[in-house]
Amino acid sequence: MDKRNLDFVYPNGSHKAVTLRFDDGPSSDKKMIGLLNKYHLKATFYLIGSKLMQGNGICENEVKKLYSGHEIGNHTFSHKDPRKNTFTSEYVQAELEQGKKFLESIIDSPVTGYAYVCSTYGTIGEDEYKRLLAQTGHKYAIMGNENKSFVPDTDDRFNIAQSFRFRDDMLIQKAEEFCAIDANELSIMLVMAHTYEFDDPKYGCNWQKVEAFCKTVSGKPDIWYATNGEVIQYLLAVSDFKNSNSMLNTTESTLYINLNGRDTTLKPNQNLADLI
Ligand SMILES: [Zn+2]
Repeated sequence: MDKRNLDFVYPNGSHKAVTLRFDDGPSSDKKMIGLLNKYHLKATFYLIGSKLMQGNGICENEVKKLYSGHEIGNHTFSHKDPRKNTFTSEYVQAELEQGKKFLESIIDSPVTGYAYVCSTYGTIGEDEYKRLLAQTGHKYAIMGNENKSFVPDTDDRFNIAQSFRFRDDMLIQKAEEFCAIDANELSIMLVMAHTYEFDDPKYGCNWQKVEAFCKTVSGKPDIWYATNGEVIQYLLAVSDFKNSNSMLNTTESTLYINLNGRDTTLKPNQNLADLI
């Protein structure tokens, strides 16, 4: 049996996942969370430690309660633009570490996701950046590029693309398309914005469009609504298992498999051979 041909599904038994990404923690995140909770959607908010400390947007003492039910990701401590500054390895390491630790201290739980600032590795380069992400305990990192596809882009855990931006003219059409497809492989619709964009017409999106999107994708039994981290960690675990030489699930995730029409789970340290 070739395990790469197995029918992997998400934890709810479906092949489709919708997950949203918002950066920088502006005060308009509050309005967004109201919509997400109304439509039962899940998102990851990539926050900046120093900005929270200054209360410039969302304040640090609001974070835990406000974002509850969603994921908090790291977006560096200071959010300095790598395109306008020359950074040393030590600087980047400190920014990653400090940002992560600060967020963990205010939410009392681990922060494992990261979103690159201004979608670049900057002067230290790609390999060094990824080495530092792993060293500082990050499990995945997301870039700013969109692949305009429902095919998961998880070949590289530290360079993950999103599917679309909220400002995309085709967004609602793509959302309808995603809901309509009868996917037989794991698919994803990961959509990104800064929520302040929805207050200003120059960014090509508004709250009306955002709510129309939420309405379109919500309430579908064949879609898994989860945070970036939940979907990405699951997809990474599936690829790790498929690419390993063993039948043993050495990942930290329970894998869900449709085996001859039967929903089966393969728990960490369980052997696929025992299920067949
Ligand atoms: Zn940012």
